[in-house]
Amino acid sequence: MEKGKINVSVDNIFPLIKKFLYSDQEIFLRELVSNATDATLKLQHLCNIGESTVEYGNPQIEIKINEKENTLHIIDQGIGMSEEEVKKYINEVAFSGAEEFLDKYKDSAKDSGIIGHFGLGFYSAFMVAHKVEIITKSHTDAPAVHWSCDGSPEFVLEPADKTDRGTEIILHISEDSKEYLEKGKIRGLLEKYNKFMPIPIKMGTRTETLPKPEGAKEEDPAPTKEVDDIVNNPNPAWTKSPGDLNDEDYKNFYRELYPMQFEEPLFNIHLNVDYPFNLTGILYFPKLSNDLNIQKDRIQLYQNQVFVTDNVEGIVPEFLTMLRGVIDSPDIPLNVSRSYLQADGAVKKISSYITRKVADKLTSLFKDDRKSFEEKWNDIKVVIEYGMLSEEKFFEKAEKFALYPTVDNEHYTYEELEAKIKDAHTDKDGKLILLYASNLEEQHAYIEAAKEKGYTVLLLDSPIVPHLLQKLETSKENISFARVDSDAVENLIKKKEESISKLDETQITTLKEKVEGVVKDTGYSIQTEALSSEALPFMLTEPEFMRRMKDMQKTGGGGFMGQNMPDMYNLVINTNHPLSSEILETKTDKKREKLIRQALDLAKLSKGVLKGADLSAFIKRSVDLIK
Ligand code: ADP
Repeated sequence: MEKGKINVSVDNIFPLIKKFLYSDQEIFLRELVSNATDATLKLQHLCNIGESTVEYGNPQIEIKINEKENTLHIIDQGIGMSEEEVKKYINEVAFSGAEEFLDKYKDSAKDSGIIGHFGLGFYSAFMVAHKVEIITKSHTDAPAVHWSCDGSPEFVLEPADKTDRGTEIILHISEDSKEYLEKGKIRGLLEKYNKFMPIPIKMGTRTETLPKPEGAKEEDPAPTKEVDDIVNNPNPAWTKSPGDLNDEDYKNFYRELYPMQFEEPLFNIHLNVDYPFNLTGILYFPKLSNDLNIQKDRIQLYQNQVFVTDNVEGIVPEFLTMLRGVIDSPDIPLNVSRSYLQADGAVKKISSYITRKVADKLTSLFKDDRKSFEEKWNDIKVVIEYGMLSEEKFFEKAEKFALYPTVDNEHYTYEELEAKIKDAHTDKDGKLILLYASNLEEQHAYIEAAKEKGYTVLLLDSPIVPHLLQKLETSKENISFARVDSDAVENLIKKKEESISKLDETQITTLKEKVEGVVKDTGYSIQTEALSSEALPFMLTEPEFMRRMKDMQKTGGGGFMGQNMPDMYNLVINTNHPLSSEILETKTDKKREKLIRQALDLAKLSKGVLKGADLSAFIKRSVDLIK
């Protein structure tokens, strides 16, 4: 027997471990299972290169709870440790055994999946245990050893009688950590952190029902068999080659990742790169709603199949955090702060690689099957529009696949759209005006009016659209977007030849004065336009600029923060509507006023701003009309 002092610079590291890491206590299990996995992979590697003569077989990691003894056991069939190795790797805390192993087998170990170790390691066990034992037998013929430590820097090392290779870690769970003796708790942790680790993890057994033998009677019970209960899937889809997976495999893996998610993903992107950094993974495009906030934190980050976090902020560009799936990379430094992470060169490269892959996938989906891409557009546009707004590279690439749907459900790329509408949509200054609606219901009357004039109206209804339009206008020359109910539309309408007023100059001036006389208290600025006789007699329009500022405020940003933008409307009188002539011809002021008020209220109604007392008055007046 040998007694000694663990070689740590701080006199007593354990209170520190306990205190500082309390909030993240549960990761102790991830660390120990990771060590067990590493030890197994190391042995596999040595067998592969002929440096170990043992029979590798099908090793497992076993997790056992002993309720009587209040102990948790993590047992592996890996490389094990000799007495010297325990002294070196366990007693000299600051020494990283992984580092030395890698150094020795640098070249041959590169592809074996053991690179990239992280976390607190073995000593995190003391976050939940007051005493820890190691019983280990090296794969070589070195005798087994038993190490134990009761949470002070003093340890005891003695011979053990273990005969099979591998390591058993025994945690004597502290009084205040009793939850880690519950089967459900441990299973939950294994499912969270070790669900896709490469070595099977066994936790007890389960009963499997076998098929009934031939000729069995109806009432005979089906035979059963006790089998190992394996908690993890050691071969998750992302570790396989895309060529070996079909659509159904990808969908099955999605269900495995998100068992509570019933909706199928729209499509997936298999990531696979080994230079200049290592990264694998599968990203899924789910159906997205317009609410940007509720959909984050769904991508899971792994390091060599060990779950790290589901907060990938800083690693994946912001707009892609709405996707789902997994990313696995040993090259992401994890024990650094997030702000440091964002500045890290490797992480930046990873982020731009992912952006590029997503853009490439979207391009090929669009090219290969445009119809199905168009059908999916509504469910994926939020991500794409958000990406165009926030990532310059993505914005450039999106030129090829970003779609502009019309209110009639046609879809154009920007280039196609420009070509299609060039003639009709140019205003008197030669500027191309793209009309859009953001809500089919609310802007119905305006959409109809614009369509009747032969204009194409886009349907752009995601919440970030006002910001995106701003970006498009600055990056493209000579175009501007105008919502169907904005004043910019009139400039277009003016240009049309058929828009010749039926009234002459004097009549128009009189008409304007009469209307002004009635609506002067509304503060609207009054304009006359020769619209179609089918259009509304009066219409309310809003300056595009003002309205967009308001929209941008709603989604954050856009200037004028905190200040409420005032409503500002133009009242457009359609001089070609028969009502305009009638207002002029009406003999009595009383009747004229009634007509004007009714037309104004109709305009407000179709803009959705007729409310309160005005709405009641309108209803009363309308009822009087039909009495
Ligand atoms: P790290 O794994 O980061 O080096 P740890 O404190 O977790 O730090 O472990 C220290 C060393 O102890 C490991 O590198 C390894 O050499 C050894 N070790 C830990 N657990 C095992 C195990 N289950 N089997 C074999 N060796 C182990």
